[in-house]
Parts: sequence; structure tokens; C-alpha cells
Amino acid sequence: MNEKNSVVENVEKNKILEKEFYPLFKILDKDNTGIITLKSFKSILKKQGISDKDTRISFNTIENYNKLEEDNDVTLTFDDFMVIVNQSNANLIKSAIQGNLIIPDFQNFVDEIREFFEEVKTVDGGKVATYIPQLGRVDPDKYAVSICTIDGQMASFGDFDEYFCVQSISKPINYCIALEDLGEEVVHNHVGREPSGISFNGLVLNSNNLPHNPMINSGAIMTCSLVKQDLVMSDRFENVLDIWTKLSGNNQAKFNNSVYLSERSTADRNFALGYFMKENKAFPQNTNLIDTLEFYFQCCSIEVTNEMLAICAATFANAGICPTTGNKIFNPDTIKNCLSLLYSCGMYDFSGEFAFSIGLPAKSGVAGGLLIVIPNLMGIAVWSPKLDKNGNTVKGIEFCKKLVEKYNFHNYDSLISGVSPKKDPRLRKNEAKKTGVIDLCWAASTGDLFEVQQLVSRGLNINDADYDGRTPLHIAASEGHAEVVEYLLKNSANASAKDRWGNTPLDDAKRSENKTIIEILSI
Ligand code: GLU
Repeated sequence: MNEKNSVVENVEKNKILEKEFYPLFKILDKDNTGIITLKSFKSILKKQGISDKDTRISFNTIENYNKLEEDNDVTLTFDDFMVIVNQSNANLIKSAIQGNLIIPDFQNFVDEIREFFEEVKTVDGGKVATYIPQLGRVDPDKYAVSICTIDGQMASFGDFDEYFCVQSISKPINYCIALEDLGEEVVHNHVGREPSGISFNGLVLNSNNLPHNPMINSGAIMTCSLVKQDLVMSDRFENVLDIWTKLSGNNQAKFNNSVYLSERSTADRNFALGYFMKENKAFPQNTNLIDTLEFYFQCCSIEVTNEMLAICAATFANAGICPTTGNKIFNPDTIKNCLSLLYSCGMYDFSGEFAFSIGLPAKSGVAGGLLIVIPNLMGIAVWSPKLDKNGNTVKGIEFCKKLVEKYNFHNYDSLISGVSPKKDPRLRKNEAKKTGVIDLCWAASTGDLFEVQQLVSRGLNINDADYDGRTPLHIAASEGHAEVVEYLLKNSANASAKDRWGNTPLDDAKRSENKTIIEILSI
């Protein structure tokens, strides 16, 4: 394409974009003056969880932005607005103004998360891990909760910007790196994928003389031997640190040397695991055991903030693409494999119970961090150093309980949520979870027999009524949907149910003068 053509094409593109964005600008321009304030633009984004630091939006394209920033009343014409749109992620701006991001009512959601945060704050119990002396010195009362959706909507509470050690949360990351480089087959020639049923540092191998899975110490030491084997130690570590940074939205991951030294000097069990695996010829050929162990301790001593950990969890939820930068870090297959293992093995000896009652892939570490992934929706991180007897953060587990009590986030909640599989039921509250009556009434009102059947076979109570006491049968009868009426009756719908005005479905059919339905209901 020659230069002239591309200029013409750009002009065309800009025109299309302007047409698309003019109505959005008008939403902000409430007084119809043709001018909006930068503040109002930022505030509409903020309500959607998009901060003014979000690198996907380039406010600094406005001339003298930094100087202007000091002035609260910076105004934007439509042209200024389009300069920002043109240099930014236009789709993000569009969806945020229209309220179309993955969690549309973000403010409301954040208010509820804040409530959980406050409630869990009062939960006490557990002890800070002391077997690595340096970890024992952490303030036990530190506590943070952060969320990041797959659209990069973010909210954080408590000590969310303090750095802490990832410890075992390094295990899934190293597993992903090994999978990306070597593929599933090679990696699983050296490490299994079954829960071990014993503690995270258990001195035991599976029947193939391999560690049970990459989420316990033996398996994680094994994956360390597979990560960037060909590089020198310094480059191997730099590479992993860099991946942590990218996973966390390009916020710099750090390294805690004191924790590393402390861990190394108290690592008898990890050395024992290493020698045990060496004796059983589990490592790839030419593995340097001491280097591998050193590398493992270093990876455990990587530090991130809780906010960064939530972005990292959101990258997992978003199939390997970091939501806040748009960069692809891992392939979807890698994430799928990793989440499968987190689901079955991510929470130490509590993994089975966690999968059963919380139903989400998650990984905890002995420094009190917890990464939780809600695939295709969001990542969550909790940090609180006091651990229960299984080594999981006490507050983190409590937070998860609250989360799934309120939302249909458990992996299998969709089966019993009582809403159509066509709709995303996850953000529905308990009320809908119990009955789903609104969906059933809606399907009955539109005469969608197939949908009514689906909902009924998912265990909805056919005789539940809406707030006016109207059952699906009332509604189908008054809207004249004979097939639905027949189906409901065959499935034990109560024909004499009365709504709050005392009317039965037959009364409704008479009012609408629908002979067929009057006949069906009169039998
Ligand atoms: N570095 C720790 C160890 O090997 C990791 C423990 C953990 O977080 O589970 O003991």
C-alpha cells in the first residue's frame, strides 16, 4: 500500500471512530455545552474500576498534561477527547462509558467486597510460619484483599501495596514456564499430576518414582530443574523475575535476599527431597542438584504486592493475557493445565476440601499469600500471614467462604444456580440462586418452552412465585402460551395457586379471553 492510500485510510478510520464516540462524549457532556471536564471523564472510568494510572488510557496525549493535571478544571472539547481515544485502548473507553465491562455494576460489587474485607478483618486465629526464621518476623496483622477483572477493573483494600514473598505461589508460575518451553509431555515425564494426600514437603514419590505434582515441594524442585535449563543461573532467575513482572501488569517484581538466605540455611527437608529424587533418577540428565535447589529458594523469595498478585491471578483468569497491559504471557493450554492442577492440588492438605466447598483454582504460600482464579471473570488475591494448620492463610480461606456464599463462583454453581446456562449466572445473588424464579417467569412470559424445560430440569421449583405471588403458570396463562401452560401442568404446576390479588391462572386466562388455555385449565 502506498503512503497516500494509508493516509486516506487513516482519515476514514478516524471518521468512523469519531462517529462512534460522539454519542459517548455526549453522555459525559450532560449540560450540552460541547465541553467536558477531564475530572468527569476520569471519574466515570474510576466508577468502572479503571484508574487514571491505567496505562491503556493515555491522558498524557493532551498538551501540557502534567501541568494541566494540577488544575482540577481541565476541560476537553470533543477533539481533545478524540486525541485521548486515538492514543488509548478505544474499546476500553467505550465499554467503560457504556457500562459494558465484564462486571457492569462495578461499584456495587466493590462495596460488597469491601464488606467481606471488613467482616474477615475481625476473624483471628492461626500463626505466622516460623520455620523460615525471616518469615516469622513479618507483622502478623498485615492484611490485604485485591481484585482485578479480565477487563482490568481493579479494587484493593488494606495493605495492598506492601511487598511480601510469594513462596509456594512461585510453583504454578514455574510450572507454566516449564510447560511453555518444553511441552506437557516432557514436563510430565518428570512430575506427576495427582494430589499426593500428604503434606507439602512430604518425603515420598509416586509409583513411578516421580514427585506427585508440581504444587508440592518435591514437584516444584523438579519443575525448577526444567525451567530454562540451558541458561546460566543469573539469566534463569532474571527470566523468572521478568515473567512475574509481566504477569503483574508490568509492575516490578522484587527479590528478598534475607528470606532467600534464611530459607537456604533451614532447608534440610528440601535438600533431602532433592537427594531422594536424585537417587531415584527422577531429574532430567545433567541436572545440577545444588543449582536447582538454589533456584527454587530464589523463586520462593520473589516478592510482589497483593495488588500485583491479583493482576497475576487475572492473567490466569484471562487465559494468559495480562488484562492491564494486553500482553500475552502464557498460552491458554498452559493456563488450562495449570488451573487443573491448582484445582486439585493448590491448597496443601486442604485441596480436596477447598475444591469441594469453594470450587475454584487457587494457590497459597506460607508467607500468607493466596491467589484465586475465577476463569473468564477475575483474579483475586488475599494476603494475611497467619496460617491455619494446613499452611493456608486463615483470613484468605474465610474470605473465599464469604465470596462463594454470596456469588455463584464455585465451578459447579452454574448447575444449580437456577438460571439459564445461556446467561452468566455468576454474579447473581443468593436470592436468585435459591429459586431462579425470575428467569422461569421470564421464559414463561415469552413462551420459550425450550428455556422453561431447561430451567425446570435444572431443579427449579415450578411453583415458586415472584414478588407479586405470580407463578410461571399465571404468567404463561395470561400471555397466552398454551404449550407452556400444558408443559407446566404436566410437571405438577399448581393450577389453584393465587397471586397477591387472589387470582388463579384460570382467572388470568379468562381475562385474556384465551379459549384454548381456558379449556386446558378447566379440565
Ligand atoms: N519455600 C518454602 C519451602 O520450600 C515454600 C513453602 C510454601 O510456601 O509452601 O519450604
